Amino acid sequence: MSDTVQWFQYKRGIVGESQRVVHCARAAGDERLVSWCRREFDPTAVEPTAEPGATPAPGEATPHGPCIPCLLLVTSATETNDSVAAPPARDGLPHGVR
Ligand SMILES: [Zn+2]
Repeated sequence: MSDTVQWFQYKRGIVGESQRVVHCARAAGDERLVSWCRREFDPTAVEPTAEPGATPAPGEATPHGPCIPCLLLVTSATETNDSVAAPPARDGLPHGVR
């Protein structure tokens, strides 16, 4: 699922340290980056990070604290459907579900 969700934070020096929370966005490739908490970011002002709490991979920055709205949205999306890229399915068929 980390293929479809990108975690990022402002680069050092762009905003105050307390503002450098980790947001997430669907990897879209647009020139504007819109986070799940519906804020717009300049892609040149942010750096990719690991998922909050995860160990950063090479090339990823160490994540600061997570943006709570983003974190909640991702958590609810991943709890209702393994695929974050798709909206939660509501087909009402309970088979296979616990
Ligand atoms: Zn956010």
